[in-house]
Amino acid sequence: MTREKMIKKIKFLAKEAKLRIQYKMAKDCIFCKIVKGEIKSAPVYQTDTVMAINDINPVAASHVLIFPKRHIDSVLTVKKGDGEALEDMFAVAQKLISERRLEAFRLAFNGGRYQHVPHLHMHLVAGSTIKWSQL
Ligand code: AMP
Ligand code: ZN
Repeated sequence: MTREKMIKKIKFLAKEAKLRIQYKMAKDCIFCKIVKGEIKSAPVYQTDTVMAINDINPVAASHVLIFPKRHIDSVLTVKKGDGEALEDMFAVAQKLISERRLEAFRLAFNGGRYQHVPHLHMHLVAGSTIKWSQL
């Protein structure tokens, strides 16, 4: 096999492996399962593209998770075509902040070792003292 052919084959195998990992993450992803209704949840609000649910382990009086229905791994994998999903997430956050008349709030994305659910999500926390270290 020529050097060029070998490089082409390695690139192909790497691409395949990446796709397999992405597929596995989406398949086993807890938030994807919530979107599909395979795990029960009581959505606080949802649109065609975004879901908002109460955090199961709240760190403040109000703790909502806002995430795109389409699987995106994390802030590290957000790319150009994802803009609309992000806009929709912020629109949902704005709606909840306004409806709940939240005068002080925090919006946070965790990443790296701080991120436990590998599906992009925004924390909307407000109310009593925020246990920031637990977020
Ligand atoms: P992070 O550490 O940023 O990935 O945050 C993940 C959040 O998801 C944590 O605050 C968890 O309490 C929350 N969580 C995990 N599973 C569920 C679930 N089934 N329903 C609601 N919230 C969840
Ligand atoms: Zn997912």
